[in-house]
Amino acid sequence: MIKKFIRRILGVKSGSGATTEPLVFGPSDHGIDLDDVSPNAIRVTETLQRAGFKAFIVGGAVRDLVLGHRPKDFDVATNATPEEVKRLFRRAFIIGRRFQIVHVMFGQELIEVTTFRGASAEEAPKDAHGRVLRDNTFGEQHEDAIRRDFTVNAMYYDPERQQVLDYHGGMKDIRSKTMRIIGLPEARYREDPVRMLRVVRFAAKLGFSIAGPTRAPIKVMAPLINNVPAARVFDEMLKLLTSGHALACLQQLRSEGLHHGLLPLLDVVLEQPLGERFVTLALASTDERVREGKPVSPGFLFASLLWHQVLEKWNAYKAAGELPIPALHLAADDVLDSQTDKLAIQRRIATDMRDIWAMQPRFERRIGKSPHKLLEHPRLRAGYDFLLLRCASGELDAELGEWWTDFIDADGPGREELLSKKPADDGAPAKRRRRRGGRSRSKTGGETSE
Ligand code: ATP
Ligand code: MG
Repeated sequence: MIKKFIRRILGVKSGSGATTEPLVFGPSDHGIDLDDVSPNAIRVTETLQRAGFKAFIVGGAVRDLVLGHRPKDFDVATNATPEEVKRLFRRAFIIGRRFQIVHVMFGQELIEVTTFRGASAEEAPKDAHGRVLRDNTFGEQHEDAIRRDFTVNAMYYDPERQQVLDYHGGMKDIRSKTMRIIGLPEARYREDPVRMLRVVRFAAKLGFSIAGPTRAPIKVMAPLINNVPAARVFDEMLKLLTSGHALACLQQLRSEGLHHGLLPLLDVVLEQPLGERFVTLALASTDERVREGKPVSPGFLFASLLWHQVLEKWNAYKAAGELPIPALHLAADDVLDSQTDKLAIQRRIATDMRDIWAMQPRFERRIGKSPHKLLEHPRLRAGYDFLLLRCASGELDAELGEWWTDFIDADGPGREELLSKKPADDGAPAKRRRRRGGRSRSKTGGETSE
């Protein structure tokens, strides 16, 4: 009975062989430029189709292609099972245990091939809050479409026929720049609360508005995010922060009420007046790198977001009598511990963050062999970029960053000259640095001996 009702609302005809016919758009309607489509993705759909299967490019790639953007990666959906897919390609690997997908590799490019998912989430096992724990049945294409999150993410592109199959009005929503969840918003957020973060990310990234009913339940349902495994929240945060629109995403998260008390990292980032300039600069430079197609290091990003928290604790430990270097390590431990509970920062990323932070006092020690030694540090570039951010935010005098820029560029004699030319007050109480909380600290982080 309830099932029937839900099917009616979702527009699925009941009975066996139930089908929802998609709208079909040809090249003049969807406007996809085949040059923007990865030749490898085309190879995958062609190979599958020649073997008698259905195969389409799906999800974000279709959305981006219709919008005239070159997608960053390509996913393919098919009615072939993972085993059947694997047999057709030389370098194909079945990934995952619960719901298997196939990674087809072409050099560096990875095409993710997923078998249509079936049935509804109604029968899937859930936790006490209604979050779906497993959904691993294969199904028909229209069932696959209804399981996707947003209308603009539920379109299927066949490069051979150059047709877009649109099951839930995605094309119309693209034209009106609207993010709209498929099905009943409350039910879909309950099944997977991460969809609340996803809708905000897509809206900010694409410059779309969020349809009223899709948006309305978010404020009330936001706490459900607490119930999502930390690693998954971390993955989503990373996607958000490396979307090329991190600043816009964070602002929108705040306006949707999705930050407070939910994501400790965001509390720190969005509610620390002292670090605001630093974080804004860090995110703006990350956004710029992403848009220029340059790589971004998650370690650098999270080190930036949490720096002012580290700085605060570092000062507190020093005030309590710790020597600067051990104090910095203690502060780093505290901050990482408090974040890893909910955010599950991976060990590799945490190590990068620690390296970047630990290097900072060493930049302020411009005597003897110290600067030469620092040049050999494997993460010098990240540490130096971080130093420049500290200078740009007004935490340190610009002179220090400029000196290091020259020092890195210079040859042997040039470096000796720079060392002899460092400001006369190096090592003396600093007037060139802006103080936090009015407390003064010795200018060279190398107050401790090395
Ligand atoms: P991006 O540009 O960030 O990669 P995307 O739309 O491709 O955007 P992915 O996370 O790569 O996002 O997911 C691929 C597709 O899988 C989505 O377009 C959507 O159809 C489906 N999908 C992903 N996550 C969910 C989810 N939580 N619930 C329902 N469908 C999802
Ligand atoms: Mg994708």
